[in-house]
Amino acid sequence: MIYKKRKIPTRLQALLALDRRLPLNHPLKRQIAQQIYDRQAGFAGELEYDKYLKEFRPSYPHAILHDVTLRQDGIYFQIDSVLITPNEVILSEIKNIAGRVIVKPNPLQFIKESPTGERAAMRNPVTELERKTQLLTKWMRERRIDMPIRCLVVFAYENELVIDAKSPVDILFTYDVPIYLRQLDVQQHISSRQLHTIARAMKQSDCSFITTPLAQTYKLDPAEIKPGIQCQHCDHTGMRWNKGTWHCPKCQHLTREGHVEAITDWFLLMDNKLTNQQFCNFIGAPNRHIARRLLMSSGLQLVGIRKSAHYVRKQEQEGEAGGV
Ligand SMILES: [Zn+2]
Repeated sequence: MIYKKRKIPTRLQALLALDRRLPLNHPLKRQIAQQIYDRQAGFAGELEYDKYLKEFRPSYPHAILHDVTLRQDGIYFQIDSVLITPNEVILSEIKNIAGRVIVKPNPLQFIKESPTGERAAMRNPVTELERKTQLLTKWMRERRIDMPIRCLVVFAYENELVIDAKSPVDILFTYDVPIYLRQLDVQQHISSRQLHTIARAMKQSDCSFITTPLAQTYKLDPAEIKPGIQCQHCDHTGMRWNKGTWHCPKCQHLTREGHVEAITDWFLLMDNKLTNQQFCNFIGAPNRHIARRLLMSSGLQLVGIRKSAHYVRKQEQEGEAGGV
């Protein structure tokens, strides 16, 4: 059973919003484009993994959670995919790398080689998984869960893979995943009920929606980020409010929902909170009464009164605010 489906990662969503709202000649433009490219490749690899995982339909109870971020001892750690069986918890680190990948011993290294022969060290996925295993073990222990953890490094496409070193974790391709999982010797260590309790606890603790607004990450002056509502039809920024509807002065497109994406952009790019005044300035609402109505109907939570009044996303009331 899937407890958490995969959605576009928050960081990728934020980078796309920043790209839309930075002027064409901005010095960060190229760096942002590269990051979008890398993150889109990563996301495509994860979707490829999910596609193969669908073929895995065991007769025993199990739980799947995609893209989970947990917090332990003040440290956030993200897992690309979690599979809980009655026997163990399986963590997958999914890599989508073009070209050849060489795994070398002493110390264990992952090297990627481009089609032109250039070599570069990759962030070692085994070390990443060891770190996540330690944190998850502590996280589970605090919840009185005692289960072994197995880790997998999964390559999304059929790279030429040269393994010169014995890896402490299994390395496989996405299309191997269903066969690999079907061959597991699953003993009934925990009950179906316990398994679902663990999955629910993970889902409730997941904080993958939390992100540091990118203006902070890239130390941008808020004035560098283009305000306004972007037209879905012609990409013009600066839709105008007219009798209850947003109107594009360039292509005449009309929409009632124009402010929704702009509010999302605000939280991804500018700040974790939004005041009525900031909303008017960023979105171009004609006055604070209309702004209030739009904010209240956007699923936000009003916090504080009078001058300290501001809006936050509802999830942040439940989770803990902070950067990942
Ligand atoms: Zn338009």
